[in-house]
Amino acid sequence: MTVGRAAAIQEYLALNDETYSEYSGSVARFVTEMVQFEPFCLPIRKLRMVQSKLFGRKFLVANPMYEDDGLIGAGLNAVAIESIEVAGFQSPPIVVTAKRQQGQDRLYRSILEHEFVHICQMLLGRLADFEADPGGPTLFLEARTRAEFEAYYLQHFHWPDLYPAQQTRGMSAEDYCLFSAYVHSLEDTLKCILGEGASLPVLSDFLDTTPVRLHDLISPMGFSDATCQYYRAMFPGHIETALGVITENSPLPLPDQFVDFIKTWLKGASPGSRGAR
Ligand SMILES: [Zn+2]
Repeated sequence: MTVGRAAAIQEYLALNDETYSEYSGSVARFVTEMVQFEPFCLPIRKLRMVQSKLFGRKFLVANPMYEDDGLIGAGLNAVAIESIEVAGFQSPPIVVTAKRQQGQDRLYRSILEHEFVHICQMLLGRLADFEADPGGPTLFLEARTRAEFEAYYLQHFHWPDLYPAQQTRGMSAEDYCLFSAYVHSLEDTLKCILGEGASLPVLSDFLDTTPVRLHDLISPMGFSDATCQYYRAMFPGHIETALGVITENSPLPLPDQFVDFIKTWLKGASPGSRGAR
């Protein structure tokens, strides 16, 4: 990791005064609306503005009213949400965080700053939206991976001691950031494909065309050909893992025909054969 790359990412995501004042205006309106409601009928509580150490701006942060209501995905500590509807009002981009564990202030901070990266990306219109994006799932995966990589990169660069080798599977920090960014984005993409309006041709096209495009995604991010080949060869394995994670965390059963389709596809896909075509 380099100072130059971290600085370039921060610079790329810096908000100009106009964008920021528009955002703080919508935060002020939203917070004013919220005070009129009894707190127990809201999905969030403790609305506050938190100063970002990386961006020098304050961003809206809240806690969920109930820790286990699914607002923050399973296994996550925080989530950046483009907008949540509260009592008929749309929130501006907001970070919702679980309660801070005692003695984990720096870890909590590193996670918050990761989510602030996503808030900046949202405000700048640089966070891909699966439904709004006409580019299809593969382009969504690519855009999402790049955005997540920016967030992981800054998190690991500024708090390197929190992510030692035993936490990063022994990978270099850069490799780990790519791995985390890609794996999480792949899960998100597959979840979206299997969501409302799911279509078998879209799923089939995604499974078949994504591996060949991974080089074009990963190489410009500064990774070697060997790394690109690794992700291409591992595509079926990563799909299998993503399907497992989604199945485990989904509140509703996934549609059988889609799950069966993926399982059949996986049988024909092994490193060096279909998935690596
Ligand atoms: Zn993220």
